[in-house]
Amino acid sequence: MQIVNTASDLHALVAGFTRDGRRIGFVPTMGNLHAGHHSLIALARERVDVVIASVFVNPTQFGPSEDFTRYPRTPEADTEGLAAHGCDVLFLPLVADIYPDGAERMVRVSVPELGDMLEGAIRPGHFDGVATVVAKLFNMTRPDVAVFGQKDYQQLLVIRRMSRDLGYPIDIVSAPIVRETNGLAMSSRNQYLSAEQRAQAGVIHATLQWMRERALASLRAGDAIAFREISALANARLENAGLAPDYALLRNADNLGEPMANQRNLVALVAARVGSTRLIDNLLIEP
Ligand code: AMP
Repeated sequence: MQIVNTASDLHALVAGFTRDGRRIGFVPTMGNLHAGHHSLIALARERVDVVIASVFVNPTQFGPSEDFTRYPRTPEADTEGLAAHGCDVLFLPLVADIYPDGAERMVRVSVPELGDMLEGAIRPGHFDGVATVVAKLFNMTRPDVAVFGQKDYQQLLVIRRMSRDLGYPIDIVSAPIVRETNGLAMSSRNQYLSAEQRAQAGVIHATLQWMRERALASLRAGDAIAFREISALANARLENAGLAPDYALLRNADNLGEPMANQRNLVALVAARVGSTRLIDNLLIEP
């Protein structure tokens, strides 16, 4: 695996791949890689000739009171894991390559509506930071395919919209959520949890599965008001387990809008705090 630190080195490498007619796959990450990230590399590997991963803890997608400075950074383990899982190039950009005049003076990419609701409403500016850095990384890596985890479902839709609207000729692929044995979706933030909290957080996946069962039952029954009731009950389930939910919702899986009474393409979404750690998870519902 080649490790690249500068935009100019990456440019030369990418130009060579393109000249040789090799298809490029790209997996952007913030590092502290786990089996979920590695599955994205494997998925890219199946579809392209060369896989580029980036590790960049992007300051602009963290709010002022969020965990940017204490976000776990494990460069040695990340490098080993990527090499072992078939990554060809690891791009470790410098902040100055991404934000030449500093983040405040950077051109910004913003995805209206989709980027403003749910996570975007609770974390203002978060998806501007994500869309901007991913647009820049797309320009630097020039991929044919880019793989994102379904784990960050709203992010996946934001990237799809950004890519379509800005005309990137990139196939955006969604990778299934990789989970711990108790159902907890793998996340770099899970390491903030104590053993007890980790066990407690299993209720998130259980609640999503319960929401799916209830939503399918109400679709079968043609019950119009049921979706909101399901959300309210799901919230209560999370609270009863000692979590502090920000939301537990059923939404249109294509645009995250409020579902119609007979909406069939649904996604159940949960964001909840366990102690001071905020976790998100989701489950697609396909009747
Ligand atoms: P992050 O490093 O957290 O920004 O995540 C980088 C990529 O890995 C994103 O596309 C995430 O959605 C994806 N990802 C994170 N956790 C998981 C997981 N448990 N399963 C699948 N993909 C994941």
